[in-house]
Amino acid sequence: MNLKTFNRKTDKDRKPLKAFLKKLDKLVPEDMPLIVAEEDAKMWAETDCLSCANCCKKMTPTFTKEDVQRISAHLGMTALAFRKKWLYKEEGTGDWMNTSIPCQFLGTDNMCSIYEVRPADCAEFPHHHKQPFDSYNDTFTQNLDYCPATYNLVQRLKKRVEKEYVW
Ligand code: SF4
Ligand code: SF4
Repeated sequence: MNLKTFNRKTDKDRKPLKAFLKKLDKLVPEDMPLIVAEEDAKMWAETDCLSCANCCKKMTPTFTKEDVQRISAHLGMTALAFRKKWLYKEEGTGDWMNTSIPCQFLGTDNMCSIYEVRPADCAEFPHHHKQPFDSYNDTFTQNLDYCPATYNLVQRLKKRVEKEYVW
């Protein structure tokens, strides 16, 4: 699914996928790790992040202390100067986030200009490999609004689980 098609998806289209993830909070097929691994591999075979970059355009990563130190050193800045220039501290969580959305490190070619030293949150996005998968249902529910890869994976999981299990 390309970004244009994804952006045309409505709340109505996302509703059954969100309901599926909610149900997955309580009922988890025993083969879930295998099903996720298989469907995720198939999904990535037909997904091109470089033609999308929606996560970098519409969301902000969380920057850990280690991320700030590594990236600021890479850019030849102090951690303090880096935070002052690009980040703010979120109230409540105390997490460091981007002031600018889209991300200041996103190039016009959808490439990340600090790819080798990017935040761990970016490197792990969209978190499909996290174990157990269902403990990240809230994250996936939120990301259904932003990430075509997550949308596609949850769509595949729903189809397969409903076909193979009493659900
Ligand atoms: S991870 Fe998701 S939102 Fe980010 S570029 Fe890939 S498909 Fe797009
Ligand atoms: S640091 Fe790179 S990968 Fe992370 S949001 Fe910014 S452009 Fe995207």
